[in-house]
Amino acid sequence: MARIQSIRGMNDLLPADSPLWQYLENTVAGLLRRYGYQEIRFPILEHTELFKRSIGEVTDIVEKEMYTFDDRNGDSLTLRPEGTASCVRACEQNGLLHNQVQRLWYAGPMFRHERPQKGRLRQFHQIGVETFGMVGPDVDAELILLTARIWKELGIAQHLTLELNSIGNSESRANYRQALIDYLRQFEDQLDADSKRRLHTNPLRILDSKVPETQALLTEAPVLQDYLDETSRSHFEGLQRRLDAAGVEYKLNPRLVRGLDYYGLTVFEWTTQALGAQGTVCAGGRYDGLVEQLGGKATPAVGFAMGVERLCLLLETLEAAPVDSATADVYIVATGEEAEVAGLTVAEQLREALPALRVVLNCGGGSFKSQFKKADRSGARYAVVIGEDELSRGEVALKPLREAGAEQQSVALAGLTDTLAAALQVSENNS
Ligand code: ATP
Ligand code: MG
Repeated sequence: MARIQSIRGMNDLLPADSPLWQYLENTVAGLLRRYGYQEIRFPILEHTELFKRSIGEVTDIVEKEMYTFDDRNGDSLTLRPEGTASCVRACEQNGLLHNQVQRLWYAGPMFRHERPQKGRLRQFHQIGVETFGMVGPDVDAELILLTARIWKELGIAQHLTLELNSIGNSESRANYRQALIDYLRQFEDQLDADSKRRLHTNPLRILDSKVPETQALLTEAPVLQDYLDETSRSHFEGLQRRLDAAGVEYKLNPRLVRGLDYYGLTVFEWTTQALGAQGTVCAGGRYDGLVEQLGGKATPAVGFAMGVERLCLLLETLEAAPVDSATADVYIVATGEEAEVAGLTVAEQLREALPALRVVLNCGGGSFKSQFKKADRSGARYAVVIGEDELSRGEVALKPLREAGAEQQSVALAGLTDTLAAALQVSENNS
């Protein structure tokens, strides 16, 4: 019978790769904690309406990328294509927004029906950060400093560039929108099909078009910056002043718009040259209108999301992450019923006393030779060898596995933790 395969663009994370993911996730989670951010988790499925109303009907995501289906009750549900809408929904529903300040983060899979390629999947993962109740631009700056620190801690800062823009508040955008339509209308028949369609629905997205002919038409187009009103302008200047003071470098990109309708004022992206076409690893911005749009009280908000797959690819490409393919520090080898029974206890004692160590007990029997082979494959630095004779004398053998020519030595069972703690330079749990 034919083997069943996974869905295209939905990958398995294999054990060999999970340490890299954990390294990234733990580093980011640790930093978020240091900035006072709290984790929130929400479902992977939501009512389709939530995404239509937030992301916008005329966006790539809602027009052609969502996994939408009717459940058994006939309700239209959608696998979340991003986290912001769900986060707002969850906060609003649970009363976290009214008269409060929130600094939140989440991590997990997102789903978009795109053409799978390197760095572009149908199930991909994001770590997202959302803040509520702060008008900025101080918190905008905080988020950018936080991302900059993440890159620094991951050792990839020199490979990332910050692109920054303000797309203004809704009044500024409405004025600009009209100017852009008036300008592009002259060239309507030269626009690519997508842009032509967007001209009257979502003209700002044309700025983001990847079609060279369309980009060429845009060189003379009116610039959003010239349409920013006083409020929008001073917000953007305030952000730049703070980034300058903090020594964060950025590139102003007046063409930067985001693919989701809810953004206004600040938008930013972190990009890299090291990944080819899929070079954006983190993107975000302010969305002061979204909470109200989803039925809540007007609440200022700003956030971002980073692509976990792309960041892992980058860490791999740059060989920036510490790699440890070992699954054990100590591997316990035992032959014979008595020794195997003792092995279980010895392993537990080591785990109790030396919590920093990975202790793996050989299970399933086998000759000393085959057990040593497994010990070697585990990457352990030491094998603890339990034989029946030694055991009767209250001893085990300790064998270094990574030092050429190092001899096995006998150790009193009672002194095993001290010896290993010293040999592997870890501290003992004395509680
Ligand atoms: P792109 O322009 O690359 O399509 P986007 O603007 O659609 O990205 P966002 O919705 O802002 O992306 O999502 C934030 C981040 O999530 C992106 O910068 C990227 O790192 C990651 N991301 C988005 N879509 C995918 C995908 N299909 N596969 C892998 N990562 C993705
Ligand atoms: Mg996209």
